[in-house]
Amino acid sequence: MTDRKGQLAANLAKVEDRIASACAAAGRRRDEVTLVVVTKTYPASDVRMLAELGVRQVAENRDQDAAPKAAQCADLPLTWHFVGQLQTNKVRSVVSYSDVVQSVDRLKLVEAMSRQAEAAGREVGCLIQVALDAHERERGARGGVAPGGIEELAASIADAPGLWLGGLMTVAPLTGPYAGRERAAFERLMEFSTALRSAHPAANMVSAGMSADLEHAVAAGATHVRVGTAVLGVRPGTG
Ligand SMILES: *Cc1c(COP(=O)(O)O)cnc(C)c1O
Repeated sequence: MTDRKGQLAANLAKVEDRIASACAAAGRRRDEVTLVVVTKTYPASDVRMLAELGVRQVAENRDQDAAPKAAQCADLPLTWHFVGQLQTNKVRSVVSYSDVVQSVDRLKLVEAMSRQAEAAGREVGCLIQVALDAHERERGARGGVAPGGIEELAASIADAPGLWLGGLMTVAPLTGPYAGRERAAFERLMEFSTALRSAHPAANMVSAGMSADLEHAVAAGATHVRVGTAVLGVRPGTG
């Protein structure tokens, strides 16, 4: 670990190659896909090196870790995404540093985010997290709204002061009909995105794909891939 920056640069180059190859295979332009590096569990010093290596989009999933890290990196030209399950009592903190919250999955959260974003004088992007393994009005085990709830949430975000509707996000489900079928899951998300854009044309972000399955996401049409392990290394413990 003597040359952390060199290691990060090498990993980034490999991920960049994978994204470029996946774009070429899908007949997509490279600039249609944005890499978001998930820096959760890794220190602010890594975020700083990533910024020096040209990374502009980073993501975190726990407010306790993200808030101090974002503060330490406030001088860097970074867009901060929040991708974790979000409790309403953390909303005030999360909207203070997040540019985009990718895990919006219930109306109560929209109300709280709108109130706090307005109070802070911020405009926060919202992606609706879709749980492809949830039914009716349930939420998914890893967060996310069932597909039937997308329209109502989208309308409420579009009307909420301080928020803008960016699009959709999903995590490939571990259970249900899409378990082990990442490509099919991401294609389903694209269908929901097409439907969403008929009512909200600007909400064209589609966040799907992680270290293990980013090729499937690019093939399906994702605009954003969220990559942690493949850039920073395997996280100790869970995460
Ligand atoms: C951790 C995380 C990622 C990145 O996962 P890797 O497998 O490390 O690439 C992406 N999305 C979400 C929501 C995450 O929590």
